[in-house]
Amino acid sequence: MAIVILRNDEKTGLWKAALKKHRPDIPVYGPGDAFDPGEVKMAAVWKHPPGSLSAFPNLLGIHGLGAGVDFIMEDETISPEIPVMRVVDPYLASDMAEFVLAEIAGILKRLQRYKYNEASALWQPEAYKRFSEVTVGIMGLGELGLVVAASLRSIGMSVVGWTRNSTPEVAFPVYSGISGRTDFLKQAEVLVCLLPLTPQTRGILNTEVFRNLPFGASLINVARGPLLVDDDLLHALDQGLLSEACLDVFHNEPLPGEHPFWKHPSVHITPHIASVSHPDSVAPQILSNYNKLLTGDTPANLVSRKAGY
Ligand code: NDP
Repeated sequence: MAIVILRNDEKTGLWKAALKKHRPDIPVYGPGDAFDPGEVKMAAVWKHPPGSLSAFPNLLGIHGLGAGVDFIMEDETISPEIPVMRVVDPYLASDMAEFVLAEIAGILKRLQRYKYNEASALWQPEAYKRFSEVTVGIMGLGELGLVVAASLRSIGMSVVGWTRNSTPEVAFPVYSGISGRTDFLKQAEVLVCLLPLTPQTRGILNTEVFRNLPFGASLINVARGPLLVDDDLLHALDQGLLSEACLDVFHNEPLPGEHPFWKHPSVHITPHIASVSHPDSVAPQILSNYNKLLTGDTPANLVSRKAGY
């Protein structure tokens, strides 16, 4: 009985070491190791090659190594019956809250604009807003969105939220579904996207949404690149519908060098770094779910295959 780690980057060794540190008795394999695929009961994955999990005939479950599991849902070779789990981790949430706060501070205090002006030695003071003067709209009030909301409220920002259908018990307005979307959007001077990528949310950040925001609003997309229609964003910025966009995620990552976002003065790019799973913090929940799969108990943080998140 063993765990296999399949990732698209160089971090397999880090994850192996973290799992082994907590449970040295459990065999953990990576792609370079010699092992019997029949031994593998759980795959722990991050953007694995689609189809690669078919190599393991005795899999009991698949654990995403991040909060988003869109790449697992999109792998059509995976049986709809097999349990899929994801990461829910306090550090992931607090890192996201710090990142979003930093981006909002940059927008309100015009920091990115001054950085841009530096290149041409342009001394040009601009009006700024106080935190208490802005309403932030958070699309997606899940594990991350709720922590982001609490952190923004703790320093005096107003928050409104949008969900698919849940009504979390919070002290700020929450809107749900298509029927609540316009009322939500019209208040969001800064729109923060923390939705999962599903067939329902793909392309949701589009002209129709931008038109419903207050004129000159800003966008922060820290969820997934394909939620955004890139051309609609460029158009909205050029029309003044939006004033700035902070993007951490893209259709193709790394963002290709020729993409117009790189040169646009109002688009601020970060390399999918808003919040990263820390192997040492996350390893215990993966090992606990592995044990639950072996004993037939219900694992924690199961993904709804029907909802796609
Ligand atoms: P959760 O699953 O906990 O929450 C998702 C939220 O989105 C819920 O409030 C859900 O509504 C809402 N939602 C889902 N579908 C819709 C819809 N069609 N319409 C309206 N609302 C919808 O996710 P997390 O908070 O854990 O993570 C969110 C995403 O953040 C991840 O999927 C991942 O893609 C991204 N992420 C990005 C990182 C980065 O570094 N850039 C790091 C970590 C995560 P309801 O409450 O009704 O279910």
